[in-house]
Amino acid sequence: MDIFSIDTLTLDADSIARRLRGARRELVQRVVASVQGVLRPKAAFRAAYVDAKAEDGVVINGVSFRSRVLRRNLEGIVRVFPFVMTVGEAFDRTMDQTGDLLEKYLLDEIGNLALIEARRLFEDHMRNTFALETLSCMSPGSLEDWPTEEQKNLFSLLAGVESLLGVRLTESLLMIPRKSVSGIYFPTEVSFSSCQLCPRESCDNRKAAYDEAKARRYGILT
Ligand code: SF4
Repeated sequence: MDIFSIDTLTLDADSIARRLRGARRELVQRVVASVQGVLRPKAAFRAAYVDAKAEDGVVINGVSFRSRVLRRNLEGIVRVFPFVMTVGEAFDRTMDQTGDLLEKYLLDEIGNLALIEARRLFEDHMRNTFALETLSCMSPGSLEDWPTEEQKNLFSLLAGVESLLGVRLTESLLMIPRKSVSGIYFPTEVSFSSCQLCPRESCDNRKAAYDEAKARRYGILT
């Protein structure tokens, strides 16, 4: 297993303030400055291989995953990259320590944006390391087709991730620290996002528009 770490993650307080409409710029700047030193993004990842494919799932390094969408995305693909990424435990502690509700809200949003920025840098690293042009990703729990229960299987592909990153699964399969993400990257010619198959109307984290025709092609809609 390999580790990717970012020593200094620089966040643009002004663009965060613009995104969090209604929050005072000076307050956002102060909160961003206060956490800049505790954001320590790290990812654990490895190359893994698709051993077998069925109609409704795949076997990767001997571990079975049930998802028709993942199965379809891995058509013709042999090598994939399971990963777990976190902005770190220190950020969680900072969130827990504040009793101010507005500051807690800002920290929560800043943590989400920090994870997005860290992931962007991680994806650049993966493309350069493995000479990949386009990389797409799926995460357990992002679609009904690939439920959160499969987090356990994903973590089993990354044995030792808790001691290396400090990321663990709770009984309800949430990741601790909270600002963490897991999934499987795979090479694609046309980029794929689970959001394209997700009809949820109000989601601040949407990365791509819902595509009903694509959802039908993937068998999500009949
Ligand atoms: S639209 Fe939101 S809920 Fe749906 S897959 Fe994308 S991020 Fe997840």
